[in-house]
Amino acid sequence: MKELKHKIFQTISEVADQMQTETYVIGGFVRDIYLNRPSKDIDIVTIGSGIELATQVSKQLRPTPKVNVFKNFGTAMLKFKDMEIEFVGARKESYQRNSRKPIVEDGTLEDDQNRRDFTINALALSLNQHNFGELLDPFNGLDDLQNKTIKTPLDPDITFSDDPLRIMRAIRFATQLNFEIEEQTYKAIARNRERIKIVSGERIIDELNKIMMADKPSKGFKLLEETGLLRIIFPELQAMKGVDVVNGIGHKDNFYHTLEVLDRIVPNTDNLWLRWSALLHDIAKPATKKFVEGQGWTFYAHNFIGVKMIPKIFRRMKLPLNEKMKYVQKMVQLHMRPIVLSEEIVTDSAVRRLLFEAGDDIDDLMTLCEADITSKNADKVKRYMKNFRLVREKLKEIEEKDAVRNFQPPVDGELIMKTYNLAPCREVGLIKDAIKDAILDGDIHNNYEEAYAFMLKKAEELGLKKAN
Ligand code: ATP
Repeated sequence: MKELKHKIFQTISEVADQMQTETYVIGGFVRDIYLNRPSKDIDIVTIGSGIELATQVSKQLRPTPKVNVFKNFGTAMLKFKDMEIEFVGARKESYQRNSRKPIVEDGTLEDDQNRRDFTINALALSLNQHNFGELLDPFNGLDDLQNKTIKTPLDPDITFSDDPLRIMRAIRFATQLNFEIEEQTYKAIARNRERIKIVSGERIIDELNKIMMADKPSKGFKLLEETGLLRIIFPELQAMKGVDVVNGIGHKDNFYHTLEVLDRIVPNTDNLWLRWSALLHDIAKPATKKFVEGQGWTFYAHNFIGVKMIPKIFRRMKLPLNEKMKYVQKMVQLHMRPIVLSEEIVTDSAVRRLLFEAGDDIDDLMTLCEADITSKNADKVKRYMKNFRLVREKLKEIEEKDAVRNFQPPVDGELIMKTYNLAPCREVGLIKDAIKDAILDGDIHNNYEEAYAFMLKKAEELGLKKAN
């Protein structure tokens, strides 16, 4: 097996033989060999002390790597070249009802494989000289890799109840690898879903973000919904599911629409936050939904309400409350603008305003808007796409001409206050906004002279006198 030809495995093998301890490479690294997904994270399990083995291995390597010891966990980690290698003694775990933290005791390889989450993650390759490279696969994980199946090695009710993070991991692996969850395993996920409440928000969001970054994130969200987990971990998204009908008129199902938008955006971005923007762009539709006689279903101001909902969602889900969140809010706020723009005659001033508000994120916004066109009506889609092309062209043209992206008005509040001997007050704000609007509307150009002249005019209208 070519992956085991690497020097590090030869060294571990020699040291393990000298120490006379059975030693294996196990888990994700072995799974990824068979999936042809090269991986740099290596887990070594030994029937003995992982810390001792790591220490002896490091002494044989040049340059000698530092060994990081985690005494409490009985593990040790070292970095060699671009690989991260973790050493642990084989262990047996038993769990208590209210905690994900097991009671740990020394065990055999079999015990160690039993505590793994899925059959495909329990594969081990022997590293001792006499059976180097031999596969130990007590749960037929290799078959499951071939049939693309996620299945727990033991009774799934026990595996999931012991550590309910595995519920999220099952759905994440199914999504990332495009595998199916075996029937009994699937049923146990649904049965044990309430157990997810003992898992920390940070661990849940780690898995959710991996689902978001998959090639087809909708698969994971559908599984979360069908197993009843979504209702628990993401009620706002759950609320988007379903269709109301009044007078025979229904609206589209916003849950499935959102998932379609999310999948559609995948090929055009690996920016996690743009994907989150796609997931949240219509999040306030349930809250703003209203049937208006003669008009049908409306979702008035759902973008603004969506912006307001985001901090609460981000805080609860342990997502960052920094500029990443602000970016998502901006995308949600502006997500209808290019469509509205393209439906009317695309004026310079509307394009300038959009550029001003979106700044450097304008391309991302256009990507989101294009993904948002999920209509089944081919003619409609064609028309929108053509209009978007027009908007993009116009954006480029205006950008080259007026440079309003991220622009700061050439006359600022300081200058206004100095010129008229004012403290910060309403008039300063009025003049500032008037200058900005004049530039965005194309009444004056974006330069100091014209802005200054405009300020003089505006101040005169307001009855202000220049300071001497
Ligand atoms: P990825 O690198 O994509 O996160 P992985 O499975 O390779 O996936 P880790 O999460 O580091 O990476 O896990 C390494 C191995 O440890 C797994 O393959 C599995 O055998 C075991 N494992 C990890 N988490 C759990 C868990 N919660 N319960 C049981 N076994 C686990």
